[in-house]
Amino acid sequence: MESLSIIDLTHTLDPDKMSIYPGDPLLACCPVTTIPQDGYAVNSLSLGTHTGTHIDAPSHFIANGTTIDQIALDMLVARPALVVDLTYKKPETKISWDSDLAKYKERMKEGVILLLYTGWSAYWATPAYMDYPYLDKHAAEQILLTGVKVIGLDTLSPDQIDGDEGYGVHEVILGTGGLIVENLTNLKALAELQQEEGATMVSIVPLTLKDCDGSPVRAFGWKA
Ligand SMILES: [Zn+2]
Repeated sequence: MESLSIIDLTHTLDPDKMSIYPGDPLLACCPVTTIPQDGYAVNSLSLGTHTGTHIDAPSHFIANGTTIDQIALDMLVARPALVVDLTYKKPETKISWDSDLAKYKERMKEGVILLLYTGWSAYWATPAYMDYPYLDKHAAEQILLTGVKVIGLDTLSPDQIDGDEGYGVHEVILGTGGLIVENLTNLKALAELQQEEGATMVSIVPLTLKDCDGSPVRAFGWKA
C-alpha cells in the first residue's frame, strides 16, 4: 500500500505554549490518576470551545444558529483546498477582495475550503500573534458569493481585535451558514503541496459537542 503523506495543520494543545483570545478560558490538562500511584493514567482537561485550532459554528454569533454537533461532516472531510498566499501582508492590515483575493475567484467554488495563509502561525504563543492581518468584511461577502462556505486562517480571528468593523466578518460568514476555522498552522507546507500536480485535500474534524458554538479540531491535508 502506498503511504499517504499527511500534513498536520493543528497546533499542539500545550498549556505552556498557547495563544488564547482575550477573555477566553485557559487550557489546563492535569493528572487525576498516575501509573505509579493508581496503575493507570487519566488527565482532566479544561479548555474553551475556541481553544487552539478550532471551528466556529454559526451559533457562535447567530441566535438559534447551527451548533457544532449539527454540522454535516461532508462540509469538512476530504474537501479540496485552495491555499491563498498572503505572507506579504503587514501586521494589522486588511486583507481585501480587490487587491488580495479577486485574482483567485475562478478557483473559489462550492465545496472548496479556502485557506488564507498569512504565515502568522510562526508567532503562535508570542505577543506578535495578536497583530495579525485581518479580513475585510466586503472581502468575506465576495468569498461567500463564489459558493465557498468554509474559510480557514492561520490567525486568531478573521476580525481585528477591537477593530472598527467589530465582529463583522464573523457575522457575515456565520450568518450565511458558513464556517470559520481559526489558528491553523503549517499552511506553508500545504501551499507547497498545492504546487504539485493533483488536488490538494483537507479534513477538519470537530468533536460532537452537544449544542456548542465551536470545537477544537484536528485538521490535516494531503495530495489526492
Ligand atoms: Zn473561534
